[in-house]
Amino acid sequence: MVSTNLNEKEIWGWMTEVPDPEIPIINLVELGVIRAVNLKGNAVEIIITPTYTGCPAKQLFVDLISEKLVEKGINDFEVISRIHPVWTTDWLSEETKAKLLKDGISPPTVHNKKIICPHCKSYNTVLASQFGSTPCQSLYKCLECLEPFNYFKCL
Ligand SMILES: [Zn+2]
Repeated sequence: MVSTNLNEKEIWGWMTEVPDPEIPIINLVELGVIRAVNLKGNAVEIIITPTYTGCPAKQLFVDLISEKLVEKGINDFEVISRIHPVWTTDWLSEETKAKLLKDGISPPTVHNKKIICPHCKSYNTVLASQFGSTPCQSLYKCLECLEPFNYFKCL
């Protein structure tokens, strides 16, 4: 049963229940992937911008959002992927960046060349491997505390 009181705010709430497939500690709203939620009568339209065009998670975003809508009893919906404007790390809130750091993942900073160590916050880091724990991450090593960490290269 679709609630007659369905509103866009409620749908935004549902979207916060969808975890990022790469980093489950943050949701798609925090990631900035969900750009707009439109209600057209009883039809739901979700506009998303994938974080990175080559990211394998791209199709997953659509699948996860679709699953969530179905779970909420919505059958009439469309998930539209738009690549413009291009997703940037500016869409990550400071809160989200802090959450990533806390989980040991270095979010890209404005100074993209300098990658911060999530453990000791040093910028004295080097690329250890292009391949991190997921396809969207690279493995870095901190030269200060010598700890390895994942850098989210899809962002
Ligand atoms: Zn360090």
